[in-house]
Amino acid sequence: MPYNEAKPATESGSQPPIYPLTIDGKPITDGKLVDVINPFDLSIVGRCPVAEINTLESAVGAATRAFTDWSKRSDSERAEACLKIAQIFEENAQELSALITKEQGKPVDAGGFGSGFEIGGCIGWSQATSTFTLEDKVILDADGVKAVQKRVPIGVVGSITPWNWPVLIAIWHIMPAIRAGNTVIIKPSPFTPLSTLRAVELMNTVLPAGVLNTVTGDAEIGEAISSHPGISKLMFTGSTTTGKRVMINAAENLARCTLELGGNDAAIVLPGAPVTDMAPGLFFGSFINAGQTCGCIKRIYVHEDNYADACAALAAIAKDTNVGDGLHADTDMGPIQNKAQYEKVKRLTQDAIKQGASLLAGGEQVGDGYALTPAILADCKPGMAIVDEEQFGPVIPVIKYKTLDEAIAMANATEFGLCASVWGTDPEQLEHVSDQLVAGTVYVNTHAELNPMVPFGGVKDSGIGVQFGQEGLNTFTNVKIVYNRMPA
Ligand code: NAD
Repeated sequence: MPYNEAKPATESGSQPPIYPLTIDGKPITDGKLVDVINPFDLSIVGRCPVAEINTLESAVGAATRAFTDWSKRSDSERAEACLKIAQIFEENAQELSALITKEQGKPVDAGGFGSGFEIGGCIGWSQATSTFTLEDKVILDADGVKAVQKRVPIGVVGSITPWNWPVLIAIWHIMPAIRAGNTVIIKPSPFTPLSTLRAVELMNTVLPAGVLNTVTGDAEIGEAISSHPGISKLMFTGSTTTGKRVMINAAENLARCTLELGGNDAAIVLPGAPVTDMAPGLFFGSFINAGQTCGCIKRIYVHEDNYADACAALAAIAKDTNVGDGLHADTDMGPIQNKAQYEKVKRLTQDAIKQGASLLAGGEQVGDGYALTPAILADCKPGMAIVDEEQFGPVIPVIKYKTLDEAIAMANATEFGLCASVWGTDPEQLEHVSDQLVAGTVYVNTHAELNPMVPFGGVKDSGIGVQFGQEGLNTFTNVKIVYNRMPA
């Protein structure tokens, strides 16, 4: 069941607002409506239609028609559209961040990394995308031959997004796609569709009809998007299992794929590192958005000499963290977004305790929904599911090591390869460890930092391709060579 269950209504009140799909620039509210739930208190935030296969067909038709004109617009015109979209986010920041908080759960502020930050990121990424270039490049100019490389748009892009950063991830998909001259159909997660539907509705006020369209639903419509012959590029962010399905379907049409998938990021704290000073950074890197971030630290490895101090410092911060309703100004951390994820985090925590881990802090439910206090689990070992699997929630295992080689081997012993980090002060050791870690991004003394100018992507089962920066923009283009032999 892909939807959260609402708390039964106890009083009759006003009807929840309905958020329409946008297809060909027009609002669509046809079909079955579903409730979208606030994961902190299980109240209904709003409702939206569930797209049918024929809704997707309308969207593909609209996006295909719009491509003819949009792909021929000048580069500067499309860069200008990115800036107009940034302005739309600035003007509607309060409404959109409140809506994210209600349906996703993250607090508006959260120490500067809540839903307000998510909308700030949308502004930053939209502005940054306007600054990249897609200029023609002369590859060869000799002996009467001139070969010019052009970057041309691919066609209709199908975007499928998860529930953890619904609008920011949507923007990561949409902005480079339309900047490069493609048109887009985006399908948000059925857990958090409303903020994406509203953001796209607002963005449509500055885009030609059909350039950016929404559909809703879960696996069935996701399968239909990834296998649709009218869709030429898939931009997917979500779990590894689903990403593999997307790629299998896309292969049938040779649609291009960028897959941003799961992770099990390790942080290695060097022997002799100032662990008490570094604990806030490690804690933040583990618990941003209550741990529901692909690039969060998911395992912390600490040398045996510093182990007790590191665990105590992390537990002290956890105990000081105020978990609750994201709409309250004093809330540091919000709930887990949905019931399945909540059950998974509880199951992994209990399983680790049964196998000998010590719960130093956290793991308690707050409120009636899916909020849990951040848990610090000491005495964790490889082989425990909490270490080997992606927990994607507010619990972090801390693992003791004796030698750096052992720590590096444990950190790399995973099918994932999204990010990793090394923490300490010895420059040689920092470089040695960062060279050995197998991941798309290796951080030094930080984790989970992203920047629109810096490419980001996973290796191994964490994904294919990169997003962000010029490199990310290029993935929304085909290379076209004009090979010209000049008459003598
Ligand atoms: P998910 O794979 O369950 O769902 C992601 C999206 O895919 C949703 O929109 C869902 O409706 C859709 N979907 C489900 N089945 C489908 C199918 N058969 N075909 C096509 N689409 C289908 O992931 P989730 O639970 O929403 O998100 C959490 C996961 O996302 C975690 O593993 C996390 O690490 C990962 N993630 C990765 C990144 C990154 O940049 N690498 C960023 C955020 C989240």
